[in-house]
Amino acid sequence: MIKTGVAIASDEELQWVLAEASRCLFCVDAPCIGGCPVHIDIPQFIRLIRWKDFKGAKETIKIANFMGSICGYLCPAGELCQKDCVLSKTGSPISIAALQRFACDRADYGSEIKTAAGTKKRVAVVGGGPAGLSCALELRGFGHEVDLFEKEKFLAGTVAQEIPEFKIPQHILKKEIGELDLNQIRIHLGIEVDRNLLEREISKQYDAIFLGVGLSRSKPTDLNRKNLKNVFDASQFLNSIKNGAINQLKGICITIGGGDTAVDCARMALRLGAQRSILAYRRSQKEMPAAKAEVRQALEEGVEILWQVTPFRLAGQKKVEAIEFARTKLVSSAQSGRKRFKEVAGAKLKLPVNVVVFALGKDRDDGLGHFLGDRTKTIDLKTLQVGKTKYFVGGDFFNGGETVVEAIADGQRAARSIDHYIRSG
Ligand code: SF4
Repeated sequence: MIKTGVAIASDEELQWVLAEASRCLFCVDAPCIGGCPVHIDIPQFIRLIRWKDFKGAKETIKIANFMGSICGYLCPAGELCQKDCVLSKTGSPISIAALQRFACDRADYGSEIKTAAGTKKRVAVVGGGPAGLSCALELRGFGHEVDLFEKEKFLAGTVAQEIPEFKIPQHILKKEIGELDLNQIRIHLGIEVDRNLLEREISKQYDAIFLGVGLSRSKPTDLNRKNLKNVFDASQFLNSIKNGAINQLKGICITIGGGDTAVDCARMALRLGAQRSILAYRRSQKEMPAAKAEVRQALEEGVEILWQVTPFRLAGQKKVEAIEFARTKLVSSAQSGRKRFKEVAGAKLKLPVNVVVFALGKDRDDGLGHFLGDRTKTIDLKTLQVGKTKYFVGGDFFNGGETVVEAIADGQRAARSIDHYIRSG
């Protein structure tokens, strides 16, 4: 199988890639394209790989997705394009993501924005993650002046801050960001746009505003954490690993949650030396929202999973030492359609633990979340416009946390809507 993160392919990898590309049927209707949120011309880039035109393949990918390399690493392709590949009926779909990674790693490419005639209209983009960046680059291409505000001192949002190195190597991320034509956008790093700044200044100075600030507030837990040491939120945990503040773990690490981020934390704990890494989820495997391939890999690596448990107590003196769970059962819910969990009376489980990570998801930042407030109900799901206002939204801030490629697709869609809004007056 192809290795990831290798800029210069070995002969073995090259042969694998060429053989995989030659399996593609180059379908005329290409259902795989429909499965890709940004509609990359998949048969075309695979055809170019087959002809060994790796630069051409990368160009084809980048026309549709300026973060094609990052998505080659992070997309749950088995649930997107590969799921729709006609060969999936045979049980062996084309490994589209691996081919995409290969083309992007192999070729160098500078994506210069071809801008339409200037409109002299100004758009503010708030948030420098995948949604904000894709929106800003598209808008510039449409000829608008773009200012991008990002609260951190770097771009790429949670991809840079939290997604572990084993999923996307840092040098790949740097290479992709370095290939973007950012000179044509005014980028303001280290500027946090709060509600005050947004309403008092930005809204008066710009013709349209895109909000793609992501989710920055970890969902709270009902559990009393008692200020015990070695109890983290997932963001804090992953961020501390990325910046080197946590570089090894000892003993047992328990992660609470069932999403992709929870799985990342559990896999990371093993890599940092934890003797056991246990994922605890309150529903069953079937309801777990994490990508199936990620869960499978986690199990293969040695992560243990406890299904249908919910924590109710942490114990310890200064550091966390034990955690107690109640067993749960699932009951139908007429309201949500998703099964609710209920604690089973008397069914308890106590485990010793050295590190606890809560990966319960994230909410919108208070300030801008409140700004959106009731307006959320007025968002047009097609255009991403907030009511009839000059505000547009996209990415995790809007959808509550989906994939990177979906955030990019949102940014592109919002840019087209903003362009229409500006030009139609
Ligand atoms: Fe190739 Fe599969 Fe797409 Fe057909 S559906 S073009 S076989 S990747």
